[in-house]
Amino acid sequence: MTTLLPNTHFTYSMWIDGQAASAKNGQTFSRESPAHGVKVGEYPLAGADDVDAAVAAARRAFDIGSWPHLPGAERAKVLLRTAELIRASKDEFALIETLESGKPIKQARDEMEWSAALWDYAAALCRHLHGDSYNTLGAQVLGFTIREPIGVVGMITPWNFPLLIISQKLPFALAAGCTCVVKPSELTPGTTLRLGALLAEAGLPAGVVSIISGYGEPAGARLSEHPDIDMISFTGSTEIGKAVVGSSKSNLKKVELELGGKNPHIVFADADLEAALDAVVFGVCFNMGECCNSGSRLLVQRSIADDFINRVIETAKKVPVGDPLDEQTKIGAIIDGNQFEKILGYIESGNRNGARLRLGGKALNRENGLPDVASRSLNDGAKSGRFVEATVFDKVQPEMPIAKEEIFGPVLSILTFDTAEEAIRIANNTIYGLSAGVWTRDIDTAFTVSRGIRAGTIWINTFMDGYPELCFGGFNQSGLGRELGRFSIEEFTELKTVQVHLGPRTSWWAKETK
Ligand code: NDP
Repeated sequence: MTTLLPNTHFTYSMWIDGQAASAKNGQTFSRESPAHGVKVGEYPLAGADDVDAAVAAARRAFDIGSWPHLPGAERAKVLLRTAELIRASKDEFALIETLESGKPIKQARDEMEWSAALWDYAAALCRHLHGDSYNTLGAQVLGFTIREPIGVVGMITPWNFPLLIISQKLPFALAAGCTCVVKPSELTPGTTLRLGALLAEAGLPAGVVSIISGYGEPAGARLSEHPDIDMISFTGSTEIGKAVVGSSKSNLKKVELELGGKNPHIVFADADLEAALDAVVFGVCFNMGECCNSGSRLLVQRSIADDFINRVIETAKKVPVGDPLDEQTKIGAIIDGNQFEKILGYIESGNRNGARLRLGGKALNRENGLPDVASRSLNDGAKSGRFVEATVFDKVQPEMPIAKEEIFGPVLSILTFDTAEEAIRIANNTIYGLSAGVWTRDIDTAFTVSRGIRAGTIWINTFMDGYPELCFGGFNQSGLGRELGRFSIEEFTELKTVQVHLGPRTSWWAKETK
């Protein structure tokens, strides 16, 4: 299947209180494809008053609407229908995300399937939200804890996996009975905005979900500080996550954060090296390395380091970089100029600090080997956008910025170690703690290292697999709280204690006057 670059852009509305909506100020903003340099989307530019309207709708839908009180089975039907509608929209949604983000189209289609699967799984949880009962408090007392929806949830998402990340939040909050206001990244709002009409078609009552498009300032900031919002669920950078925590103080709303990572891939000499090799290259190239889970550090045992590094380089060299609309492409375009400059800046810092550049290191363009993107275009204005080749540094030292900081590009930093203790020490030498991969056939090593690394997810002999059943989140500055898994629905609830007294109660007055 060949996908051509369309000759017109998509036009979007916001979704507020069950209706398509423009911004109150009438303004719009647009997005150019990072791979093709042409306009691919136009969106309403929300101001603080649009956020306020969306929050008011969500507040009404929570305070006097039916959604929080529907039986779980009824809420489940809406989520299951939404999953089906996402599947039915898969090709168009994948195209939208590829055009906005630069990610390979084949991968984008897979992401639509993964997103739909999250709505399926959350539907099952609608019927499994429960608390505890205490029958051990004495003959006259029965105690319960019950879970209630936390209220109105604001959701702020990044640009790297637009529909997938909102699908890690929204169906779980809806399953709990919450109402929501969603703000996707200004760079990739298309599929999230489209979700509004899909939810209505699936039977979601008006106001339960509103979706606004706009910039972090003012739209995201207004959502974070809004006094009528009870919780913010945020995915993005650690820096903005901290700003969201600051804004949340206005009414002490709950904050759940999924932030950055600098994830180590630890390869021991006794591992299945063929499998590890594939996973290491996949781990750093997937989504152009613009991935919170990117395996951006390789820690390899010194006894096999030279040979393994050579094999990593040979494999990474063959990863096809190019037009994300090409089915063969595995590394597409870089999201925007800031990110592009940031990646190239880190490559320069690696060179400057004495790491050894073994592969790549350059921006790619038509002159130095990038396939011509205009060749598969219906659009006369198409030109090659921003691409970076797969890049590998070895001889990286633990204190170098490329060993500790999130690059968010296809750049692998390789360090070596002798013992498991040393590997754990290097792995933990960062502010993050999102995920890690451990490659060994020795069960003691596998579990010792897994327990020693302070990260929310550890993969043993695999990397970046995910299942809706398994929770996801970060230690340290990689986040607060967890998404996915059966616990995720609890993130969107308050826990209430109900204590029942049976039979005559000894009165306080009688006790005092005896
Ligand atoms: P940002 O933190 O820049 O932006 C995330 C979202 O926050 C965007 O919607 C942005 O809007 C919004 N925003 C910006 N400023 C504010 C503000 N003052 N108040 C409230 N919201 C604001 O992250 P990126 O979009 O650049 O995404 C990349 C980052 O996300 C990486 O660090 C990555 O590691 C992390 N990430 C973490 C994941 C995880 O699950 N742990 C998954 C995916 C990404 P706007 O687009 O207008 O700037």
